[in-house]
Amino acid sequence: MSERLRENESKAERYLQRFRGATLEHFIDGERRRSLSRQTFENRTPIDGSVLNSVAAGDARDVDAAAQAAARAFGTWKDTDGAERKRILHRIADAIEARGEEIALVESTDTGQPIRFMAAAAKRSAANFRFFADKAPEAANGLSLPAREHVNYTQRQPIGPVGVITPWNTPFMLATWKIAPALAAGCTVVHKPAEWSPLTAALLAEICAEAGLPTGVLNTVHGFGETAGKALTEHDAIKAIAFVGESATGSLIMAQGAPTLKRVHFELGGKNAVVVFDDADLDRALDAVVFMIYSLNGERCTSSSRLLVQRSIHDELVERVVARAKRVRVGHPLDPDTELGPLIHPSHVDKVVGYFEVAKSENVRVPIGGRRADLGANYVEPTVFAGASAALRVAQEEIFGPVLTVIPFDDEAQAIEIANGVRYGLAGYVWTGDAGRAHRMARALDVGMVWVNSENNRHLPSPFGGMKASGIGRDGGDYSFDFYMETKNVCVALGTHRVPSLGRG
Ligand code: NAD
Repeated sequence: MSERLRENESKAERYLQRFRGATLEHFIDGERRRSLSRQTFENRTPIDGSVLNSVAAGDARDVDAAAQAAARAFGTWKDTDGAERKRILHRIADAIEARGEEIALVESTDTGQPIRFMAAAAKRSAANFRFFADKAPEAANGLSLPAREHVNYTQRQPIGPVGVITPWNTPFMLATWKIAPALAAGCTVVHKPAEWSPLTAALLAEICAEAGLPTGVLNTVHGFGETAGKALTEHDAIKAIAFVGESATGSLIMAQGAPTLKRVHFELGGKNAVVVFDDADLDRALDAVVFMIYSLNGERCTSSSRLLVQRSIHDELVERVVARAKRVRVGHPLDPDTELGPLIHPSHVDKVVGYFEVAKSENVRVPIGGRRADLGANYVEPTVFAGASAALRVAQEEIFGPVLTVIPFDDEAQAIEIANGVRYGLAGYVWTGDAGRAHRMARALDVGMVWVNSENNRHLPSPFGGMKASGIGRDGGDYSFDFYMETKNVCVALGTHRVPSLGRG
């Protein structure tokens, strides 16, 4: 065991002590609360499957208490001056930075994500709060739309208490990505974190309260999707649901929210293509391809899980990807050298490993991986499925693990057809030395985001989101406020137009 791993393990243990042997409670109306039912569930680390702690299993009654607290708090938070919201959100960002090591080590233990990525994710979480803090004072701003005899202007107001439902792959960062703009807009929040990774959501609630966020503005209810999550989507006081997770869950949430006419924002699954043409800078493309499938354990919505390679460079690029994949360091997530850690949960491992069987039955070549790694139950080897054709299940379905499916293509038209030939439409990556082709591809791909000659590089003012089964709506910059706020138009007459009159006989 390396010295640095040992050091991180002992630091992590210090931070985890408070959770061990205790029940992680909800955070409702400014206080920690057990479930009214007293039900709990076990939370285990993917590192070795051992129990970390027990967690309150919320149900409709706990969600109701949280939603009512959020509704009460909305009365004042919506009218809190933007400058004051800005100050509080910056204090939250300061606290996230100050506790960055703790957040990263706890998250890494809870999710199996390598510490190198979780350390970066904690920084990004603080940046999310800072970015939206600065935007808070202008959130209500609108447009001036003058007409000949009227002045029209728009203004925005927060939609109300909102529900935020997050997944387990980068739980803290994704929670901040949703919660920071909601708070900046003046909404109050009930957060339902994923049941497989509940710990850092509790840290976030604690940090926000300590930074001075008023009571009831952020509430956290732990529990399962089918109970706590469902109740949140059905609650009448909750005006909108921001959800990140699987496409199938998005469909359920839309149906559950229909009777109360919920506004929904969905960031869902992906089967993203990285298209590499033979005129690309192959060294840079290789780095990006390998990074975008094996970072974050491949449990990444924007992972480049389909590699579309022009046939003339196919064999060379596949050989180089395989050589790199062989050297990806699989190991303990708290080891700073580790590049690929254990997957989140035994049932997710079963899903990923199931695709190794699918690949066999579809006669796909597996030049590397395709099996579990012998480090523990949740570890799998970095895997490449080569020589696949576009219609196969391994080329169509989201695997959400460190598994890359390679598909050859002959020309631009075929690359577009294959790239668009899936139900998803989240991200696309294009590698080419031809500027015209880069723009043609960007225009042709049916995805919410295209990166040209780049890995997934985030710019917070830019829109983030997907088309087709990958999502509804966009986050980032002002787009986030479009979701968390209502736009109101005010039309004022200048007193010169003719008012139509009826009933004059
Ligand atoms: P999931 O859909 O199983 O669960 C996500 C959350 O929804 C959890 O908190 C869960 O408890 C809750 N949930 C489940 N059923 C529910 C229901 N009926 N009503 C309300 N809530 C319910 O997703 P997951 O397995 O946790 O996460 C992996 C998925 O998330 C992948 O498909 C991945 O692509 C997607 N994802 C997308 C993005 C993006 O930005 N597009 C980002 C990260 C992850």
